[in-house]
Amino acid sequence: MVRINDILDTIVEYNVDADLHLVERAYIYSAQVHDGHMRLSGEPYLSHPLAVAFILAKMKLDVESIAAGLLHDVVEDTHATKEDIENLFGHNIAHIVEGVTKLSKLTFSDKVYRQAESLRKMILAMADDIRVVLIKLADRLHNMRTLNYQKPDRQKAIARETLDIYAPIAARLGIFWLKQELEDVSFFYSMPEEYKAIDILVNKARDEKEAYVKEVMEKLNEKLAAEGIEADVKGRFKQHYSIYHKMLSQNLEFNQVYDLIAFRIILDKRAQCYEVMGIIHNMWKPIHYKFKDYIGVPKQNGYQSLHTTVIGPHGERVEIQLRTLDMDEVAESGIAAHWSYKEGAAIDEQTGKTFAWLRNLVDNQKELTDPDEFLENVRIDLYPDEIYVFTPDGEIKTLPKGATPVDFAYMIHTAVGDQCVGAKVNGRMVSLNHKLETGNIVSIITAKDHHPTPDWLNFVVTVKARSKIKHWINAQEKERSISLGKEMCEKLFRKKGYNFNAMVKAGELDAIAELFSFKVVDDLIAHVGFGKITPLQLFHRAVPDAEKDKEEDTGDKLSSILGKLIGRKKRRKKNEGVVVKGLDDILVKFSKCCNPLPGDDIIGFITQGQGVTIHRKGCLNTLQMPPERKIDVEWSDSYAESYPARIRIRATDRTSLLADVASTISKVKANIINAQTETSEFGAVKSYFTVSVSSIEQLEKVMSELRKVKNINDVKRIDTSE
Ligand code: MN
Repeated sequence: MVRINDILDTIVEYNVDADLHLVERAYIYSAQVHDGHMRLSGEPYLSHPLAVAFILAKMKLDVESIAAGLLHDVVEDTHATKEDIENLFGHNIAHIVEGVTKLSKLTFSDKVYRQAESLRKMILAMADDIRVVLIKLADRLHNMRTLNYQKPDRQKAIARETLDIYAPIAARLGIFWLKQELEDVSFFYSMPEEYKAIDILVNKARDEKEAYVKEVMEKLNEKLAAEGIEADVKGRFKQHYSIYHKMLSQNLEFNQVYDLIAFRIILDKRAQCYEVMGIIHNMWKPIHYKFKDYIGVPKQNGYQSLHTTVIGPHGERVEIQLRTLDMDEVAESGIAAHWSYKEGAAIDEQTGKTFAWLRNLVDNQKELTDPDEFLENVRIDLYPDEIYVFTPDGEIKTLPKGATPVDFAYMIHTAVGDQCVGAKVNGRMVSLNHKLETGNIVSIITAKDHHPTPDWLNFVVTVKARSKIKHWINAQEKERSISLGKEMCEKLFRKKGYNFNAMVKAGELDAIAELFSFKVVDDLIAHVGFGKITPLQLFHRAVPDAEKDKEEDTGDKLSSILGKLIGRKKRRKKNEGVVVKGLDDILVKFSKCCNPLPGDDIIGFITQGQGVTIHRKGCLNTLQMPPERKIDVEWSDSYAESYPARIRIRATDRTSLLADVASTISKVKANIINAQTETSEFGAVKSYFTVSVSSIEQLEKVMSELRKVKNINDVKRIDTSE
């Protein structure tokens, strides 16, 4: 367990003038309120804030950060309130603790978007005070270091979240050591088998390559000494997770990862970096396209370094990084290297230039006069197509650029959207098609009896608003059609001496609705209202014995409409190549769930009003069907030219993978009808293709050719439901 004196000693090392009393007071208070609480490890709870504060001290942060680190869990986990903290430790610390508490309450939903969403929230927290996020990262780091006390499923979930959210934030802030440790510990828990495999390989390589690393370092040292340049040469192995990530993303074998060992040369002056690079390029032939000048053009998080890859002493690739000590510190500590014990003093101009992005955050944090501008900067930087607006309660909503109050209203709730009559932006009335901007506070005015109008479709930009408006309009139209249809039927039935409503109530029209494949009678009536079925046709169906009107040969008309409705048109293609035993000229349909192909074992099912549906034998859907409707069928000699079939491909991503798949399929003269592809962040690709083929043989040909395509691991024929 970390002791308070370890923390105090560490602070004094980098800041002799630090207000240690503040840290001590925070320690005593934290110890008091956490007293009696335990960690899962069985240690007193206090061990956690102490460890977090120690991490922050090692990052050389100011005493307010360290005090806040000691107090970071008290509002959430003890009786202490924000007011208590404010009274005892002042506004700044209370504000930071409140920020950390708020971040802890974020639940990261299990969606693809969670990373962007959470990064956004983190960035908003940073705008307020970047120290909030630094403490949150230290908190997560200690929780990862003690993850072994959690249950296995929690371990995996927490590790996953760390990989998705916290490690990228550490990277974004340039805190490299923290990013690496978070990644490696998360890797260990989330993918234990992969971790173990890499670990064994790395250890083996370490033994084998020890002599080699020594040789390269000696040669570099000798050469630099001969040139009279003082330098610190290091050689170290890449971390497990980045090796794994590289193997997966570039589909490499372990021994193909050439930059397993990174050599780093730390120099005194910036100019020496270029000089030494010249010397190295004279020693070993450089691979030119592998050269990167991050000194001239620093990365956004401030990272500076020269990267070069050369052909080393044994003809192998060697990656070398060159930088100054200052650059090295930034490379390891990122923002933390600058946000140090200087107690939040203005960052000097030189640093400010390198940290343009973060300077914006820090400036705004200092003044907080223009949060809109801050948001605007972050937005342009990270999510150029989004705007952030606020509800009157201060909740943030993300919308696409160009969004209107109607989009916002539907985002809040469908009912709010449907009943939206007006909107206020920053307290002023605006029109419903007003374009919202980042930082706007939007409130929606609703009226109970108000409804969407079709013209809203002309200006909304979100999918949700569009689909909800359309849905309402369709429902509205249907309602109108039902009442119109009802009226028409009532009139006609009355003329013939029948009571339409009573017949509907008695269920006398249910069978007709079913015949037309409608789920409910209302749908049938709506079709009368739409003008697709006449009331007289319906009447003759409902009362078959009634005398027919001479002027109108309704029977024929109805049967032709019926024919259309049940798809008799398809009959023209003589039964689609299937013979139903004992039955001639029957409507045959191919099931969409299993897409049978000539050559497959098939089975038929009699369906009401739909003829016979053909499935593959063993299709899961057929198991649920009543056996009395089963009928034997077989392929006839003349079948149609092409049938759809569905296949699933699993692959590891690479450039032009999909293009190769497409050309392979067309080489076998099959057509792609539909394609869907998902790629995971680790480059695992899952694609679904619907192809049209003439037979099972052709499908098998397609699949066997696909299996030969580089990076494709698995090809399988599947049902639609899979
Ligand atoms: Mn904590």
